Amino acid sequence: MPGGKVQKLPFIAVRGAGDGPTYYVQAAQHGIELTGTETTRRLALSLNPKELSGSLIAVPVANPLAVRCRMPFYGMREGEPYSMDHPHQMNTLWPGDPRGNETERIAHALHQNLVWRADFVIDLHCHVRWKSKLAISCSWDKRSVEIARYLGLMFVRREPKSAFRGRMRGMLHYVATKEGRAAVAVEHSGMRWIWGDQAKVVARGIMNVMRLHGALPGEPVEPGEQYLYLEDRHVDIESDLEGLIVTDKGPEERVSRGEGIMEIIDLGTLKSTPIRSPIDGVVYELAIMTPNPDTKFSDTMPLATRGCKLASVYRAKKANRINRVGSTHPFTIAQDASRKPKRKP
Ligand SMILES: [Zn+2]
Repeated sequence: MPGGKVQKLPFIAVRGAGDGPTYYVQAAQHGIELTGTETTRRLALSLNPKELSGSLIAVPVANPLAVRCRMPFYGMREGEPYSMDHPHQMNTLWPGDPRGNETERIAHALHQNLVWRADFVIDLHCHVRWKSKLAISCSWDKRSVEIARYLGLMFVRREPKSAFRGRMRGMLHYVATKEGRAAVAVEHSGMRWIWGDQAKVVARGIMNVMRLHGALPGEPVEPGEQYLYLEDRHVDIESDLEGLIVTDKGPEERVSRGEGIMEIIDLGTLKSTPIRSPIDGVVYELAIMTPNPDTKFSDTMPLATRGCKLASVYRAKKANRINRVGSTHPFTIAQDASRKPKRKP
């Protein structure tokens, strides 16, 4: 590795009491896609080995070199666009190469030591914040399509064979499917940050898949309302105005026909024009996409360093009683309960 250093790739293994399938779950093969790291941690902590038939291998950070340089790929220059052609674009390099570049060697180490043991492969990513969460599988593999559905996310993508050309054939979910495993890629919503609520949803979805396979006890929850990305009927709304976008709806939110999704504010006149939905539907994405928004350099990263500021909190002028008095909301109870035992030794 760079400077002759050895790169450790920590993983969590949970071995169940009973026999069953092996799940390989990895996150952060792209260095700014970090919510999946929390998803793997939550998943590993939620599993009771006594109840598990089979095992979990979880790699919270598949590409530490990229995370450390705060970029999608190791060796990217500031402002360099996201691309499938970069020599360190990890999701084109599977199953890796022991004599290749640093990223190829990491992929090889993960594949040779861990992925090959797995029956099921779940590769966690994050796309931009204004796109819905998405579960992606190879359309021709029934078991993979089923996993994508039982993760229970609102949007599901079935990629046809024609989608995999050239370097796309080095994507982990494609390689794993070709090897005879069932595999999905999952996009959380939003990069450069870690959203605990999304990690919770995706970890719960993976446990639902485990229930479907009999690796966990109990019946799986049947997938609810789901939309097939690009396949189901949808409309793309194009702008004929220029101006600032103020959003009223977000990804995965319902919208009625005629209801406002956003407003466009004219910078000259400050006049606002509502953009209304032409159909009753659910928002998949708000297309406020500049080219390569994911590689724009940002100094906002959920990476704590010693001595860095984590938060500023101002003392309330009135007592914070809103959540305590007269509220029966379950969150209040959970919050109060968790407060007591948290005394550090
Ligand atoms: Zn990614």
